[in-house]
Amino acid sequence: MMDQIAQLREKMNTILIEDKATLERFRQDFIGKKGSIAALFETFKQLPIAAKKTIGPLLNGLKNEAEKKFKSAASILEAVAPAIQQPVDVTLPAFGPAIGSLHPLTIVQNKISSIFQRIGFNLAEGPEIVGNWHNFGALNFPENHPARDLQDTFFLQLNPVQLLRTHTTSVQISTCTDQSPPIRSIAVGRVFRNEAISARSHCFFHQVDGMYIDTAVTFSDLKGTIYHFVEAMFGRATKLRFRASYFPFTEPSAEVDIHCRLCQGKGCTVCKQSGWVEILGAGMIDPNVLTNCQIDPEQYSGFAFGMGIERIAMLLYQIDDLRLFSENHLDFLRQFKGCLGFSDGAVFAK
Ligand SMILES: [Zn+2]
Repeated sequence: MMDQIAQLREKMNTILIEDKATLERFRQDFIGKKGSIAALFETFKQLPIAAKKTIGPLLNGLKNEAEKKFKSAASILEAVAPAIQQPVDVTLPAFGPAIGSLHPLTIVQNKISSIFQRIGFNLAEGPEIVGNWHNFGALNFPENHPARDLQDTFFLQLNPVQLLRTHTTSVQISTCTDQSPPIRSIAVGRVFRNEAISARSHCFFHQVDGMYIDTAVTFSDLKGTIYHFVEAMFGRATKLRFRASYFPFTEPSAEVDIHCRLCQGKGCTVCKQSGWVEILGAGMIDPNVLTNCQIDPEQYSGFAFGMGIERIAMLLYQIDDLRLFSENHLDFLRQFKGCLGFSDGAVFAK
């Protein structure tokens, strides 16, 4: 009897259950009322009591193994049944690789750079740590100007005359010092201010700074350039206005506003009910700045402008919180998939 149990176990273990038909045959052969195990139980009944004590656990063990194998095979066949009913179409195209997307600030930076490069501006870059002179002194900031204060600027602890640049205008000083007019240059990069982080301000952000120095450059050249930029960036129908302002390094100075894109100029919380949103500061380069860069203000004149890339991106994409740009939420970043930002008409098509 023990031999019979061993043989049946061996036979059972060699059976491979691949489909429902094999499963049913297995059930009939082993577990069913007319199966091999049931037949052994019939024989078992005839055994003397002493033999039953030995054989009983073995026979029960075999029965349990058979039932376990049956249940396991049945659940596997059930799980794969849908896949078998719907075979894979191997001729279908494969899934493409997951491609990342450009950061919205990179897209807008590309777009701004491209607009100015197409009208003859060169792209300049410079270090993020600069000297006091490049950031303030050469740009006509008075010694007691509040921007030079620790409250507004990050100075290096080890070398307090070095600081994290507060604007990309510092790059323009290097450009003016290294080159001679005519100069048409834009500087793009990250800048730092000692400000609390909120929806409207951050301790770092990005700027584009531009300048044009040549003989007989006038304010109308500046206006023409800004009109061109606003049209290329926000569309032809965009209204803009120049508003008198003050910057230490330009005279006269102006700030440029465009019609609020959220309320179409009717007034909302974003534009503080004014209908206008500031996008950049500009002006004619102060003669003192030209002199500081060894450029003769009697012979040359120039204009300069500067804008925050975050502000342009917020207006363009109607983003209401500055912090979204640096928090790296994938749901936010994935919205810009497919955008490159280079200026060729259909720049922002997805
Ligand atoms: Zn508005």
